[in-house]
Amino acid sequence: MTQNHGNQDQGAQGPQPKPGVLRIHAYVGGAAQTKSGKPAVKLSSNENPLGASPAAKAAYETAARSLPIYPEGSARILREAIAEAEGLDPARIVCGAGSDDILALLAKAYSGEGDEVIHTRHGFSVYPIAALTAGAEPIMADETDLRADVDKILDLCTPRTKLVFLANPNNPTGTYLSIKEMARLRAELPPQVLLVVDEAYAEFAEAGDFGSALKTVETREDLVVTRTFSKIHGLAGLRVGWGYMPLAVADALHRIRGPFNTSIPAQMAGAAAIRDRAHIEASRNHVLRWRSWLAQALGGIGIEATPSQANFLLLRFDPEGPRSAPAADAWLQERGLILRRMEGYGLPDRLRLSIGREEDNRAVVEALAQFMTENHQ
Ligand SMILES: *Cc1c(COP(=O)(O)O)cnc(C)c1O
Repeated sequence: MTQNHGNQDQGAQGPQPKPGVLRIHAYVGGAAQTKSGKPAVKLSSNENPLGASPAAKAAYETAARSLPIYPEGSARILREAIAEAEGLDPARIVCGAGSDDILALLAKAYSGEGDEVIHTRHGFSVYPIAALTAGAEPIMADETDLRADVDKILDLCTPRTKLVFLANPNNPTGTYLSIKEMARLRAELPPQVLLVVDEAYAEFAEAGDFGSALKTVETREDLVVTRTFSKIHGLAGLRVGWGYMPLAVADALHRIRGPFNTSIPAQMAGAAAIRDRAHIEASRNHVLRWRSWLAQALGGIGIEATPSQANFLLLRFDPEGPRSAPAADAWLQERGLILRRMEGYGLPDRLRLSIGREEDNRAVVEALAQFMTENHQ
């Protein structure tokens, strides 16, 4: 008998994933432990340093009673809570297991073999994964100064373009497009293109010319906005997100989504979280206050942070040598501080720092100040 395990022949004859799947680089999340395994402060995944709302935790505990029961599949109680909190139409809301679920469903419903899906160079890495999973070709639009560039996106459009994924504000850069730029992008995209604006960080934006595209969705057939409970609401572990979309798009997603893609605990805790205005305000104020404190303190020790409208800062280090990003990462890890490496985003000289609790933010600045003094060229 021939041994066939893992050899080329079996690869050719055995079950094969469809084209595209093996081109996917699996998503790598933020590290939670230092290399030494010492207890650490995780500032690598843009989580809420204040945690979840007490009301959401209570709702989650109450949901334990419903564990043997199937959820209501359309997440009606959650859609109605979101609609009330945001002044939206519940029929246009589709909920999912995180907004990642909604992004994947959009790619599957609106693109396939032979189609193109545009994302920006330093856009969220889930977009090309969603496109390839759907069988479509991800197309990368260049940015200008780490910002999405409307003209560069428009230049790449062809009759095959079916989707444009754009995060606003963007992760990992923290940069954003103004209401005006976003309106021009939508107006000038070809009519067959569905524009998906990922507003995972919209609650943290304070720029005067930033605006959510949520209400514009009600006036168009070709625009979707996604939101998440993972960031401002502090429910990343629960996996719950939503999209706001034309009724025809909602209809398409309802046909292909998992029939129970939001659990009862997710629906109940999400509904409680979005009603807890005080916790949302406190979370936003905390991020805004410490984001500007950190940017200024880091600037003072010679570390440039890209101006950010999100709950993180992208920090710049030397391209190589003793003050490189990997050297800073190792230095911080030795002190129990975990930031996000950016090689996977094509930014090897950067680290992304999520805004943490006061003591964590101060610890990062203190550690980096030492790093900068002790590591001269
Ligand atoms: C964190 C993040 C999300 C949210 O993902 P979930 O699946 O809802 O946890 C979506 N888009 C971007 C750009 C993000 O950074």
